[in-house]
Amino acid sequence: MPGSFRIGKVAGIDIDINVSWIIILVLLTVSLAIGWFPQLYPGWSAANYWVTGFIAFLLLFVSVLLHELAHSLVARRRGLPVKSITLFVFGGVSDIEREPTSPGVEFQMAIVGPLTSLLIGVVCFLLQLPLRGSNSPLEGILYYLAVTNLLLGVNLLPGLPLDGGRVLRSIVWKITGSMRQATRVATIAGQIIAYLFILLGVWLFFFTGDLLDGLWLGFIGWFLLSAAQSANSQAMLTSMLKGVTVGEVMNPKPATVPADITLQQLVDAYFLPGALRYALVMQGDKLVGLITLSEVRHMPRERWAHLPVIQAMIPLSRLHVVAPQQSLNDVLPLMNDHDVNQLPVVQDGTLVGILSRDAIIRYLEVRRGLGVDTPKRDAQQRFPNAA
Ligand SMILES: [Zn+2]
Repeated sequence: MPGSFRIGKVAGIDIDINVSWIIILVLLTVSLAIGWFPQLYPGWSAANYWVTGFIAFLLLFVSVLLHELAHSLVARRRGLPVKSITLFVFGGVSDIEREPTSPGVEFQMAIVGPLTSLLIGVVCFLLQLPLRGSNSPLEGILYYLAVTNLLLGVNLLPGLPLDGGRVLRSIVWKITGSMRQATRVATIAGQIIAYLFILLGVWLFFFTGDLLDGLWLGFIGWFLLSAAQSANSQAMLTSMLKGVTVGEVMNPKPATVPADITLQQLVDAYFLPGALRYALVMQGDKLVGLITLSEVRHMPRERWAHLPVIQAMIPLSRLHVVAPQQSLNDVLPLMNDHDVNQLPVVQDGTLVGILSRDAIIRYLEVRRGLGVDTPKRDAQQRFPNAA
């Protein structure tokens, strides 16, 4: 997530904080110190309200973190790599690199987060019972944590991208056997929930004068709506590329250029006549690097006549290389994470092709054009030559 910084590592998982989270730190601490605590527990000193508000916020932060850690640790145990957890304005997100492989895994991963929150909520509620009426900060903090963690159970509303939406998806997936259909159902449910949040927000804002809560709910609804849509398109892409290998989509005859020609020769003899945007750089029949329009553009034009390609290219050591039998769904995150548009395909040390973003898009367009937007196994049965 852009605008995030790292605060540490728990169980090998990076913990990041988004700058939007700082806004919540300030807003929540202020509203706890001047609203929530003074109303429920009158008679403390002003300093006491601020310190208690801040501690309550920090413990809520720990609660959200535990919720996300629960998702992440289950995912990792089920063989899905987890990179990081980011805390942001609406709570937390776990960056789990792959979609779950079966409805059972999805169900466990999804349900464990809200269960953790509910458990913390119940424990805090029980702990504050004997302190009831003591009017102490400890009672205040425990009660606040009980309420907020039970509210985190709202996550169980059955629509994507909420945890409940994932639970719903896993159940529909189990019943129908189709992850795509299940995603569609859970997305529609998520959109309905998002619109309800927005409507409730509008109603609070215009008809009850509760401006802040109205804005807040509307904001959450808008966020849920856009997240539901992107979850749906991500899942569609994953399912369309299921079972497709790099070898099927790569260009087996990539443009290659010798390493010792100058940039001017590269432009005049290769890039312009061939309308190329990149070429693999070869020394004899050995791959040594990749050169794209971007590297050429970043060199001052007066150096083009003398500078050999090998000094301007991205060397092999900095390239990510894939094998033809790897699946596209495993390779796409690599392209996204490193923001690269081409990956050389190498088998047993020899260059066999290049995989580009354009080629993947073209592949999807051809499939769509043929009406073959079902998962690949069905597609091949009906259109033996489609792929
Ligand atoms: Zn969750």
